[in-house]
Amino acid sequence: MTRHIILGGGVAGRRAAEIIRKRDADAEVVIVDEQEEAFYYRPMLGELLAGRLGPEKIVIRDRERLSRLGVRVLAGSRIASLDPSAREVVLAGGERLSYETALIASGRRTEKMAGDKGDVRGIVYLDNLPEALEIASLLGSVRGAVIYGASVQALGAVRGLRARGIDCTLMIPQERFWQGILDPTASEILENRLRQEGVTLLKGTEIGEVVAEGKELKAVMPSRGEKIPADLLVVAAPQAPRVDWLEGAELDGKNGIQVDRHLRTRHQGLFAAGDVAALPAVHTGEVLPQPGWLSAWRQGNVAGLNMAGQETVYSGFPALRIRVLDLDVVCLGLSDGQGDGIQEASGDYPYDELPQVYKKIVYKDGKVVGAVFIGDTTEAGAVEGWIRKGVRAESCDKKVLDQMFLPRIQSSHATAALCPICKFRMQVEADHEEGTILSCPACGADFRLERMPNGAFRAVFAA
Ligand SMILES: Cc1cc2nc3c(=O)[nH]c(=O)nc-3n(C[C@H](O)[C@H](O)[C@H](O)COP(=O)(O)OP(=O)(O)OC[C@H]3O[C@@H](n4cnc5c(N)ncnc54)[C@H](O)[C@@H]3O)c2cc1C
Repeated sequence: MTRHIILGGGVAGRRAAEIIRKRDADAEVVIVDEQEEAFYYRPMLGELLAGRLGPEKIVIRDRERLSRLGVRVLAGSRIASLDPSAREVVLAGGERLSYETALIASGRRTEKMAGDKGDVRGIVYLDNLPEALEIASLLGSVRGAVIYGASVQALGAVRGLRARGIDCTLMIPQERFWQGILDPTASEILENRLRQEGVTLLKGTEIGEVVAEGKELKAVMPSRGEKIPADLLVVAAPQAPRVDWLEGAELDGKNGIQVDRHLRTRHQGLFAAGDVAALPAVHTGEVLPQPGWLSAWRQGNVAGLNMAGQETVYSGFPALRIRVLDLDVVCLGLSDGQGDGIQEASGDYPYDELPQVYKKIVYKDGKVVGAVFIGDTTEAGAVEGWIRKGVRAESCDKKVLDQMFLPRIQSSHATAALCPICKFRMQVEADHEEGTILSCPACGADFRLERMPNGAFRAVFAA
């Protein structure tokens, strides 16, 4: 019997397993994951920290569903090594599994801070549920926190800790948010929103040293500026692909496992998808990781199809979808494009009366290649389609453009909402109203519809 092994049971791995099973009813499908606990929505860990959701609300009970589908999940099993030429995986317990095809879907995580031996109470990371629960258990005695990094983890931590009334200093090594993704105006909107919420922002600054008394964190000394008293330091940068177990497998793993547009590695039968993979960007050809929940789900989909023998090209592009405090942010494709042939349009944003809304489209050689939405993502789904199809500027739907750039126009796109978890664009039916609870067809999350001032719906995670 053909055996397909999925190495990592996050969103990419699970989606691939599901797809293979649907295409190939007879094959054996095995997911190996070191995580003991059931699958959960990582983007919701900030909400857990905020105390707005308990762990039971973000856990998805899909183990039963997977086992009904005939997928075997080896939970709590760590992969120790992989031999691509022998097509064999070795688990930490010594068990050897041979495969016909295998998918590396082991994600990324924050690198340990230099010098952190794990013996100072208050130095923490926020990559998974056990870490989030550990942080939550410390919060009773925390008054001041330093969060290091501009990652999704860092912003999740800020969201959670501010909701608990904890003083937060966000220290980012760069001079602005996500250079290459956001332009200075867009970054300033996020910076202003964070400051308005009482967050102290230190840009261009790194962790100099940590000051502990006994085994208790007392302060963080930044690389420039004054000592910051703190009982908590959330280290949320830099991120790196989880490839330590792949040593010797020659998969170019520094920035991610290199794959082609079918998500194939250079080894026969071996694929990679999700945050661990680095793939050619559609518009530049540059091989880059394209992290994020929805990208991982989509890559899992394509990898699964290819593993089951259905040749499929991944046509996605880098996309960042995140909530910064209460601001939805969607950045698509070449969103901070520079160079020959690039043109940008951002209307008169930001408007005085809407200081936290910003929208921009980027064109290259006359075709739509990127976009940014902050504060109102109503048209993000439509523009994403234009980017995917390479629609020319003159062929873009004028109604959508007017709605984007003239925000007083009543939304004609009130018929769609983006899933708060995976940002899948869902249809809202005529009989749906404020408060209606729906399930996302892509990731299964439940959400509630809320009306925005322009008449469009937005989806809010429903616990
Ligand atoms: C706090 C937080 C907030 C986030 N917010 C957002 C957001 O707002 N928007 C967004 O798009 N994304 C967000 N993300 C990122 C998003 O969760 C990831 O992009 C997504 O989970 C990647 O999916 P994946 O399947 O590639 O990897 P993962 O979800 O990381 O899954 C990888 C799996 O592999 C397993 N694994 C790794 N190594 C081994 C090994 N050696 N043996 C066995 N198992 C192994 C791990 O246990 C894990 O279950 C956030 C993440 C965090 C932590």
